[in-house]
Amino acid sequence: MIKKELLVDLHMHTTHSDGELTPTELVKEAKKAELDIIAVTDHDTTEGIDEAKEAGEKLSVRIIPGIEISSHTENFETHMLGLGMNYEIKDFQDGLTNLRGARIQRIEKICNQLKKLGLKVEPEEVLGEAEGLSVGRPHVARVLLKKGYVNSVNQAFRRYLKYGAVAYVESQDFSPKQAINLIKCAGGVPVLSHPGLIGDDTIIPQIVGDGLMGLEVFHRYDKQSRCDEYLKIAKRYKLFITGGSDFHTLGDSKETAAQLGDITCPYEYFVEIEKNFSKV
Ligand code: AMP
Ligand code: ZN
Ligand code: FE
Ligand code: FE
Repeated sequence: MIKKELLVDLHMHTTHSDGELTPTELVKEAKKAELDIIAVTDHDTTEGIDEAKEAGEKLSVRIIPGIEISSHTENFETHMLGLGMNYEIKDFQDGLTNLRGARIQRIEKICNQLKKLGLKVEPEEVLGEAEGLSVGRPHVARVLLKKGYVNSVNQAFRRYLKYGAVAYVESQDFSPKQAINLIKCAGGVPVLSHPGLIGDDTIIPQIVGDGLMGLEVFHRYDKQSRCDEYLKIAKRYKLFITGGSDFHTLGDSKETAAQLGDITCPYEYFVEIEKNFSKV
């Protein structure tokens, strides 16, 4: 019998940030999608990883500890994946705690903006919508939807929450370099998330200069050719190559997300990046 190549997905979210499946449910769905190795990469929290590992042991799905840290340059929002950290390191967890504190402050500012527009959304309602420690704009969107202010989460983003929209508020002041350093302090490999959603490829060399080690080449872009472009860029700058679904929920209709199994990271690239994961 020919052994099938291992299927790897290095980007997904749980209820600990803005995903809608618990870590256990996520691992079960990953198994159904025949994935062998997955990285759990919640926004600014690693709270879901232990539960995912437990479920992964039962179902023979290998769990890579991951994170997706929000940061920005002067003009662009940049998300940084961290893979293979020893996530119990205190400095790393302290950094994440600060980032989540800034997320709560951001929600308060967004609610103020919405109030000015006549939409009554209290920060407490948004925090109540978040099941885990890491609250974000999708939770605001869900409250707007529940209250009937919008017809969909997508519409909430389009009208109010997306970059440049009326209730948009900048995320915490954290640069790509700071995100890279935080991931490295825990022995993880920093990988620039979905470069094709940033809007400017010229910032990639700049972030390489900050110590970037990998590029998320495979993501659900509108055109396959985008992946080819990023593959070339990754090779030019000698960056590790990764890919993942950025899964948030079943039946998700977001333009930028995919379902489990839709986008994977070729195993040959995983083997290379894995050599650099924290050994602890
Ligand atoms: P935040 O972490 O608060 O900055 O929110 C960013 C998250 O919002 C992303 O990771 C996506 O999950 C989600 N998101 C971004 N744009 C959209 C959109 N147009 N529709 C639905 N969800 C979105
Ligand atoms: Zn998200
Ligand atoms: Fe992201
Ligand atoms: Fe993501």
